[in-house]
Amino acid sequence: MRGHYRLGARRRQCAAGAVSSERQRSERRPLDEVMRSAAPPFASRLRGGAIVRKPTEIVQLNIGLYCNQACSHCHVESSPLRTEMMGRDVALRVLELLERTPTVHTVDITGGAPELNREFRFLTAECASRGYRVIDRCNLTALFEPEQEDLVDFLAENNVEVVASLPCYGPDNVDAQRGRGVFDKSIAALQALNARGFGVPGSPLETHLSLVYNPSGAFLAPEQAKLEAAYKDELHSTWGIHFHRLLCLNNMPVKRFG
Ligand code: SF4
Repeated sequence: MRGHYRLGARRRQCAAGAVSSERQRSERRPLDEVMRSAAPPFASRLRGGAIVRKPTEIVQLNIGLYCNQACSHCHVESSPLRTEMMGRDVALRVLELLERTPTVHTVDITGGAPELNREFRFLTAECASRGYRVIDRCNLTALFEPEQEDLVDFLAENNVEVVASLPCYGPDNVDAQRGRGVFDKSIAALQALNARGFGVPGSPLETHLSLVYNPSGAFLAPEQAKLEAAYKDELHSTWGIHFHRLLCLNNMPVKRFG
């Protein structure tokens, strides 16, 4: 594939957050000191008003655990073997609850691969028609699953913001974390989204394609702004891909990643 062999040192930057065992030991020390210093118990902090509930503005919905991938870091243990899916009755209840909560402006839909739930399009279209900002947490390869040929058009027609996982701009890290062949499919999916205007400068959907980096091992994500610049440079120069911004997340050490 074009460009795979010129990434070299740049490709390794995706793992730039890897930390030495010496650094891990030095960072553990301040935490141990905090524990020894008898920090006030969490319950007393709560009673002291440390956390105040604000009006709900964003609702994130996990609409099912089925996924066409089985990534090594998945904190909900999704895979093609999972069958749990939100049904129409729950989707209708969600719409009812949204209507009763006027402070909500954004509905953020995740899974699993949310697009592969049969209620995804119903829920998305209903939310979009009611004026909510709708976000689809997309694994990119779902675009190539059966009956998803028109998914990109559907997302564009409903003004959906796509937040897509891509933990590196080279194939090795992506395939190791997300499965063999995922990188090539992800690139093809990003190109299809760009062809419909997602993430393309000057398009009405310019801000509607963001990427997500998460570490492939037990280390923290590198600095977001620097990594975003490297992603933009590599993905555009090698594949002609545009996207709006990169979000760096850290994995929770739970479920499969734990
Ligand atoms: S694509 Fe997302 S939901 Fe699916 S297995 Fe990977 S991390 Fe889990």
